[in-house]
Amino acid sequence: MKVLKFGGSSVATADSIKKVWNIAIEAAKNDKAIIVVSAFGGVTDLLQRAGEQANLKDETYLKTLSLISERHHAEATQLKLSDTAINHLEDLLEQLKNILQGIYLINEFSDKTIDKVLSYGELLSAFLISEMSNIQDISVSFKDSRELLKTDVNFTRADILQPTTDTLIQEYFRSDISQLTIMPGFISSTVKGETTTLGRGGSDYTAAILAAALDVKILEIWTDVSGMYTANPKLVAQAYAIPEISYHEAMELSHFGAKVLYPPTIVPLLQKNIPIMIKNTFEPLEGGTLITDSSHSKKKPVKGITHLSNIALLTLEGNGMVGIPGISKRLFEALSAVKVNIILITQASSEHSICVAVDAVDTERASTAIDTMFKYEIASQELQPTIVEHDLAIIAVIGDGMKNHQGISGDMFSVLGNNNVNIRAIAQGASERNISAVIAKKDVTKALNVLHYRFFEKQIKTINLFIVGVGNVGARLLAQIAQQQAYLLAHLMLKINVVGLSNSRKMLFDSNGISLDNWQEQLDNGQSNKDDAWFKSICELNLATSVFVDITANDTVAAGYGRYLKQSIAVVACNKIASSNNFSNYKELKELSKKYHTPYLFETNVGAGLPVINTLNNLINSGDQVTEIQAVLSGSLNFIFNNFNKERSFYDVVLQAQQEGYTEPDPRIDLSGVDVARKIVILARESGYEIEMDEIENKSFLSNSGNNADSVPQFLATLKTDAAHYEALFNKAEGNSSRLKYVASLKNGKASVGLQEIPKSHPFYNLDGKDNIVLFYTNRYVDQPLIIKGAGAGADVTASGLFGDIISLKNV
Ligand code: ADP
Ligand code: ASP
Ligand code: MG
Repeated sequence: MKVLKFGGSSVATADSIKKVWNIAIEAAKNDKAIIVVSAFGGVTDLLQRAGEQANLKDETYLKTLSLISERHHAEATQLKLSDTAINHLEDLLEQLKNILQGIYLINEFSDKTIDKVLSYGELLSAFLISEMSNIQDISVSFKDSRELLKTDVNFTRADILQPTTDTLIQEYFRSDISQLTIMPGFISSTVKGETTTLGRGGSDYTAAILAAALDVKILEIWTDVSGMYTANPKLVAQAYAIPEISYHEAMELSHFGAKVLYPPTIVPLLQKNIPIMIKNTFEPLEGGTLITDSSHSKKKPVKGITHLSNIALLTLEGNGMVGIPGISKRLFEALSAVKVNIILITQASSEHSICVAVDAVDTERASTAIDTMFKYEIASQELQPTIVEHDLAIIAVIGDGMKNHQGISGDMFSVLGNNNVNIRAIAQGASERNISAVIAKKDVTKALNVLHYRFFEKQIKTINLFIVGVGNVGARLLAQIAQQQAYLLAHLMLKINVVGLSNSRKMLFDSNGISLDNWQEQLDNGQSNKDDAWFKSICELNLATSVFVDITANDTVAAGYGRYLKQSIAVVACNKIASSNNFSNYKELKELSKKYHTPYLFETNVGAGLPVINTLNNLINSGDQVTEIQAVLSGSLNFIFNNFNKERSFYDVVLQAQQEGYTEPDPRIDLSGVDVARKIVILARESGYEIEMDEIENKSFLSNSGNNADSVPQFLATLKTDAAHYEALFNKAEGNSSRLKYVASLKNGKASVGLQEIPKSHPFYNLDGKDNIVLFYTNRYVDQPLIIKGAGAGADVTASGLFGDIISLKNV
């Protein structure tokens, strides 16, 4: 004898029912088989809803009933069932209608009535499926499970009466001659014959009871996924089916939310050592999961990660419980008396508090029961009234082998902590098969994914980017990412996902990664970027290893970095403002980065893509000390002074630099030295000096009217009118056989910026085009400085500096 169970998802449509039949016929080829079926997918929920509506005297229950009726008629038609079958279907629907009408009239939807109503889901589906046998060359019968499965009167979650049930099953199948027997799952009856059910999802249990009573070799559970997965496949894309798992592991996983198997299912099978195979009706050739007693499935310490999503945490605390025996006993008695199931318990060793996690629907009942039980202690202030926390979830890491492995809980909690998932309570059973943590409901998907990555993926790291500012540099960065995505995946096991893009008007999100072929068009059609929608959307997505990339020059954007770091979202900034304005702000960002284990990177702030800040950090981290910095840090000013000569006016050269994108949109930021000052401030701070912008000595080389110009056009005009001023600067330098370079320096903690005449012998003299150069003198580089030199401006090199910062996050 074989037992196969097909869930609601496998019998949701006529097409899938045909698939079920193919599997059933194959199973019954050489052996008799019992096929246990659930209600058509979604029907049990509809029945529950119809009952509730009728109970509330809401006539829409009739509409819900019509939905149920139409659904079954449609399937019957598609399955080409006989007229007799259709007549019987109508009888069943009529019975259901009468019961619902009764509920409507007398306002009663007790547990007993609920079971009566819900039973029609399985009765209808099993009947229709068995009627399809007309077209099969095989003997098929329908057997009402209520005649064989006997239970107590615990309606909606009845307990099986043994050995009565086993005997009835054995007797029936001893005499039955059909090759295939179709039976409804989930439903059963009391000794008096009243309909009961085994709890939502209970068809799995029906099949297990039949399998155990008949001592079959294996129970097959057919569903819509290819087995029991390492995590819920709907929430963790990288989850995969576990090939083999022990009974206890499967039980823990299902108790903690792996819906694929109804938790009590394993008990009768474990007692008889009958294996369970979970298979996919839609992909029958895929391996599936085999659940056995086997100990060789212990090789991998963690088998799965799972969660329960609607949890409340109740805490009883107060000085009155320290050292007093019996408090926990009374607490558990109070909860048991009102039938509240405790999912997790923790007690601090100080005995000052006990914390229990319960299903959110039980919150009110549970807290009232506890407060009542301890009313005298609460009145005398020895205990506080129950503290209730809502919107929580439990996440559990499960595996038999965890017992023999140190450090799993350490890993679990550090992974959660690093991803800003706050842990409210922790429990680990003495069996060490399950480590559970209570976290906020909003963090579940992130927690599942980061834990899955830690325990099952190791290989591929995903970095999720949220980029603001998609001008020149932004566009180049996106092009570089698009070009390099496949390489990074293949060589560094690194997946770069651009999840969010925004400019000042629009924003665009796709948690699976925005297609970079036509991002511009997608962004143009994106949502409008107003108020705080961008930041809120990023927080709501709550993705692991999220990175905010600022490619603007905007001070409002820069002012927001702290908010990102506090959410454990790394910040990669091209924008120099945050690192160069108030020292206190820079310091705060550095501290937040440390506190939240979240990088704040800004390599491109100095020298675009040149490795200036990274090199400086390496010097400092390895114990060196910077004594002096000499640098040409403005690609724009270098371009201007390299091209300014007797033939070309200062005005012409500045205009060209501006038009070719070498200057900031407002060229005064470059020409006044502000941009260079910002850079030397950043280098000084990264060298360990507490320095502010207004402490930088900045002697302007501009004419007075240039310094006082109010607008860009006005400023450009002064370059023309004051041409003689600039020519004089050039001539004087030339007269001294020198060239003009705009130099930044730091010595003894004092920084300055300004135009200098550089003699031939100096390393700056031959600096070409828009190149930058930095000379670091340190305790180790005393006579000969460490020199970094190369193109220090331009969209491509800046984008590549940003890309470098992003890639460096792969180890976070
Ligand atoms: P059926 O209708 O066949 O009884 P269920 O809906 O009860 O199917 O269970 C299958 C569903 O369980 C899957 O579609 C999946 O979304 C969910 N699920 C949750 N956790 C897991 C897990 N760890 N492995 C497999 N499926 C899971
Ligand atoms: N149909 C029932 C439910 O939806 C039982 C089952 O599917 O196992 O809960
Ligand atoms: Mg199920």
